[in-house]
Amino acid sequence: MDYKLAVIKGDGIGPEVVDAALEILDAVGEKFGHKFEYTEVMAGGAAYDKFGTPLPAETMEVCLKSDAVILGAVGGLKWDNLPGNERPEAALLGLRKGLGLFANIRPAILFEALKDSCPLKPEIIGDGLDICVVRELTGGIYFGERGFKDTDMGKAAYDIEIYSEKEVERIAKVAFEMAMKRGKKLMSVDKANILESSRLWRRVVQEVAKDYPEVELSHMYVDNAAMQLVRDPKQFDVIVTSNMFGDILSDEASMITGSIGMLPSASLGDNNKGMYEPIHGSAPDIAGQEKANPIATVMSMAMMLKYSFGLIEESDCIESAVTKTLNAGNRTGDIAKPGEKVLTTSEMTEAIKAYI
Ligand code: NAD
Repeated sequence: MDYKLAVIKGDGIGPEVVDAALEILDAVGEKFGHKFEYTEVMAGGAAYDKFGTPLPAETMEVCLKSDAVILGAVGGLKWDNLPGNERPEAALLGLRKGLGLFANIRPAILFEALKDSCPLKPEIIGDGLDICVVRELTGGIYFGERGFKDTDMGKAAYDIEIYSEKEVERIAKVAFEMAMKRGKKLMSVDKANILESSRLWRRVVQEVAKDYPEVELSHMYVDNAAMQLVRDPKQFDVIVTSNMFGDILSDEASMITGSIGMLPSASLGDNNKGMYEPIHGSAPDIAGQEKANPIATVMSMAMMLKYSFGLIEESDCIESAVTKTLNAGNRTGDIAKPGEKVLTTSEMTEAIKAYI
């Protein structure tokens, strides 16, 4: 099969990790007889410098016409003082909205070989961890009305958390489907003791649950969930939550697995169209130094093959190559123990490729 992919390398380590991921994808294509056709477009800080906007119209057009989008990361100090809608991160929100990507899937897996990088005690982790956070991505406070007003306490700023029944229903369905493919256990996280939007969230999730009688549904307040994730993470299988809660909890879950450089993500819409990216940012502190761990982006390719193209064997091939690479002791700086040999980005990529 031929697949048309839009590629946005972005800023900082974005280009380094995307180049690595494409190399692995090409190796998979060669092995299984698929052709991946890449169209490179710009977004983020690099796009702002060239076009005066972080999300040029051409980028949206190409992404809309592609079978999937691959993204590195955007952002950096250089653009930090721009107004909100010109900042590199505005491109991410624009892409999510423009492509209708309302579901963000973030698996947090602790690889057996990296158990030592987990900051939690071995007795808490047991034989490993495999949590999947399903985060609502195009609603809630990140997309609600925002602004300023004068009050008797001085100037005030506000951001409104707003969720409609339809928005909650569609993300709940994605989460229940995910739970059906995994351990049939779903935890919906909200703040229904305080927030009206959370009470609506909980009611709709309970409605959707009627279509999935096999899935054991529970609810948890977000403050408790943040605590339980470090106290007893193994109680979780699939977590579904709002945009902002998901942003925070998925970073927390990722830290439990050792390094932010390991974790992939998929953002999905209605028609399996997806955007695939590592969860980490542009890491300006290590950009251009061949220090970036490419695994998060490489694993994002495995998610793309599975979720957008239904290529399960090909996806498993990438996951197993990464596991074997780690089992063989290959480490980039972020996951190496003191005294361990540290591979460059290219060396790690070559090591993974050898197992494809
Ligand atoms: P970050 O994820 O870029 O970096 C946090 C820390 O993790 C840094 O020490 C970095 O060196 C390290 N790190 C990240 N990815 C790594 C990798 N693959 N290999 C090895 N080490 C890695 O987060 P930050 O420093 O808060 O943000 C930097 C910039 O990235 C900011 O401009 C921020 O807005 C942007 N950002 C973008 C995205 C995105 O594009 N999706 C996500 C988060 C942050």
